[in-house]
Amino acid sequence: MLKALDGAEVDILDRLPTPFGLVRSGVAPDHPETKLSHLPETWKQIVVNQFSRVAANERCSFFGNVNLGTTVSLSDLCKMYDAVVLAYGAESDRYLGVPGEDLGGIYSAREFVWWYNGHPDCSNVSPDLKNTDTAVVLGQGNVALDVARILLRPINELETTDIAEHALTSLRESTIRKVYLVGRRGPVQAACTAKELREILGIKDLHVCIQKADLLTSAADEEELKKGRIQRRVYELFSKAATSHQQHDIVGQRELHFMFFRKPDRFLPSESGNTVSGVRLEKTCLKENGASGKQVAVGTGQFEDLKCGLVLKSVGYKSVPVDGLPFDEYRGVVPNMKGRVLSLDQAEHAIVEKGLYVTGWLKRGPTGIIATNLYCAEETVASILEDFKNGLLTPSSGSPKPGRQGLLQVLENKNARFVPFSGWEKIDTKERMEGELRNKPRKKITTWEELLLAVDG
Ligand code: NAP
Repeated sequence: MLKALDGAEVDILDRLPTPFGLVRSGVAPDHPETKLSHLPETWKQIVVNQFSRVAANERCSFFGNVNLGTTVSLSDLCKMYDAVVLAYGAESDRYLGVPGEDLGGIYSAREFVWWYNGHPDCSNVSPDLKNTDTAVVLGQGNVALDVARILLRPINELETTDIAEHALTSLRESTIRKVYLVGRRGPVQAACTAKELREILGIKDLHVCIQKADLLTSAADEEELKKGRIQRRVYELFSKAATSHQQHDIVGQRELHFMFFRKPDRFLPSESGNTVSGVRLEKTCLKENGASGKQVAVGTGQFEDLKCGLVLKSVGYKSVPVDGLPFDEYRGVVPNMKGRVLSLDQAEHAIVEKGLYVTGWLKRGPTGIIATNLYCAEETVASILEDFKNGLLTPSSGSPKPGRQGLLQVLENKNARFVPFSGWEKIDTKERMEGELRNKPRKKITTWEELLLAVDG
């Protein structure tokens, strides 16, 4: 917006006292710190630098610790600003809806990721990694690979990352040796991408198990492989791993099992009845779904139990609506036309919500990498510009909206404390200083209380 429209002022609101969203609390700490040949930085650092440059622009302000829906309402924001863009992603989880899902020892991958990345909402998650040797991860997307990799990677490779200290301590004491990555469909349909799969398969001294029978392909699979370059590369990697990872002779060696054609039927309780002791899986086969043209997993009525003491459900994230926001509960997205939020009038016709826009996972659903979100944001900005040029963002009252001054007034009236970018910089300095002592890029501050204390300096 800053580049596209001279004179535009942008305020960024975040419920956390820290900026950078997914880069700070979603992207895995060990991942992938590939250095670009012409730059001395990691790509994660490049994203952080880019965000920091935007925040330093004199036409931009950061308001951390401001929660949309409680500190300030959506309708207030729409009254204050010519355009409001919702970019708050997907902060909840898809539910499997099978018996036993609320047992102890079962976490969504998001909770686990937030825990190891030091998100202040999950510092107390504390998964027990000491009373079992087996973890089951449900789902075979890139997030599933991330959490499995963190459980399996040699600890010395995590010690120099910015992983949260509490997670490092827990992983150091972990007794988990076997991780099962369970997919309801086959290796041709696995949702992960090749680079991420190659990375987990390349973990030092890891024994990888893939049933060769699962690699047999049907005519429909062959069709899918013909059409999908990424799928083809993923399938090739599975095939190669199934034949080349046979040796299993190191004592205490860690194991990664890819289980295909299995869907969770129920979670089994331990004797106490409180924690999980296993997952009952139903074997599946694939059937073509006429409507979507995709192959879907169908239960065969054959079951098997897989013992474990930890389950991570990695079956997708879910966005949550705020008061007054049109929301498609089924798809978990905000209905929109190129980023313009749509609602239904009384006759059920779609109408554009003037001045309200959406981008990212809240707009498209929880899929795509950082670059996908970049294109998505460009589309939304183009819509805002078009509407602005067509006079659609001019307030009907004729008098300009208060913008930043209006927000500051609301925050003052509510006695709400916001964290400016300079407040984050204090957190950043403290984290880096403490990290340096431990030979890490930073030691993340992981509780709300300590984050706000660090802002006070
Ligand atoms: P995802 O790619 O959509 O994968 C979800 C997985 O859950 C799939 O294997 C899916 O199987 C399975 N699943 C869904 N519902 C299920 C059910 N009811 N029962 C059993 N299995 C079920 O989602 P994600 O892994 O959360 O990743 C989100 C996005 O972030 C993706 O676009 C991903 O590529 C991206 N990401 C990228 C990176 C990276 O680039 N390094 C890292 C992390 C995440 P079906 O295919 O059968 O539905």
